[in-house]
Amino acid sequence: MIPYGRQTIDHSDIAAVDAVLASDWLTTGPNVDAFEKALAKTGGVQDAVAVSSGTAALHAAMAALGIGPGDEVIVSAITFAASSNCVLYQKGTPVFADVQEGTLLIDPADAERRITPKTKAIIAVDYAGQPCDYDALREIADEHRLALVSDACHSIGSSYKGRPAGSLADMTCFSFHPVKHITTGEGGAILTDNEEYACRLRRFRNHGINTTARQREENGAWYYEMTELGFNYRITDFQCALGTSQLKKLDGWIARRNEIARQYGKAFFNTPICPQGRASYDHVHAYHLYVICIKDRDNQFRRLRMAGIGVNVHYIPVYRHPFYQKQFGDQTQKYPVAEKAFQSIISLPMYPGLSNEAQNTVIQSVLHGN
Ligand SMILES: *Cc1c(COP(=O)(O)O)cnc(C)c1O
Repeated sequence: MIPYGRQTIDHSDIAAVDAVLASDWLTTGPNVDAFEKALAKTGGVQDAVAVSSGTAALHAAMAALGIGPGDEVIVSAITFAASSNCVLYQKGTPVFADVQEGTLLIDPADAERRITPKTKAIIAVDYAGQPCDYDALREIADEHRLALVSDACHSIGSSYKGRPAGSLADMTCFSFHPVKHITTGEGGAILTDNEEYACRLRRFRNHGINTTARQREENGAWYYEMTELGFNYRITDFQCALGTSQLKKLDGWIARRNEIARQYGKAFFNTPICPQGRASYDHVHAYHLYVICIKDRDNQFRRLRMAGIGVNVHYIPVYRHPFYQKQFGDQTQKYPVAEKAFQSIISLPMYPGLSNEAQNTVIQSVLHGN
């Protein structure tokens, strides 16, 4: 089976992890600092806070904003459930916004229509790796005094009007799950230019305690205070060594992903297959996913899987999940664009290690049935 996504690990990655395993600090050591510095540089911001997953990153961002009971947060409708679960962790209410036809990115006008006096933030998801319209979202956020959070779990390495992912919102969340662009096994990070947020994020990741064990050891101190309820969302030093090693290869991988996308685009030109639309503003797509719209998706899905093509569907609109339906009722009427897209989307294999030969097999199999 040709998978839809896959990590790339080489000898330099393995050597980087090896070195840390033989060192003094397995967690919250110098490699966490180094990874955070490298991430902040990639995103063009002051601070990056590395955590145990992309989900933890989103949860920490909601906590740093002080989201709580009665607060509403607007989230793209077509995304992974973690994008909105983070609001529920804080006992807030996720309110979905419909997506734009073609790009399947959050529709800023629809997001604005869903603002109420209770709304505190917008979570924009860079679906498939394409950046949302951050200028439009920023204008809305400023006008209504909302925080703007970017779920950039698909889009590290992308850019919007020349500005990199990481610098486009008040806080930007990355994931380093193996299927994402760079991996630490499990891992995530929040990027921000706001010192106060960075401070809260660091505390939240460590039980709500104001110093780390390493800081206390280096200062010869034992006293610490837990000032609020936090979690153990720390990431290990060897994971961060892997992350730093992976990050060095990001630019090359983004270029390769774009090359694969170009080949798909050429092959599907003037056919009934309709790739995800590109936004009209200047941007670099990070192509975490290559999404097409296809007729008779469910049968095509089965046919392609039988042919050894590991296609997938990203995503079931979050409001459709039974857990959300139980809590918020049937919301399908509210999201006509998401509903229509959901019937026909399918993700094709997309990862830097996909060979031209394997890609041709995918292309031929897709075209054969259409
Ligand atoms: C992967 C992903 C997450 C969660 O990241 P994990 O590291 O798996 O916890 C959140 N949002 C989106 C859009 C994702 O794709």
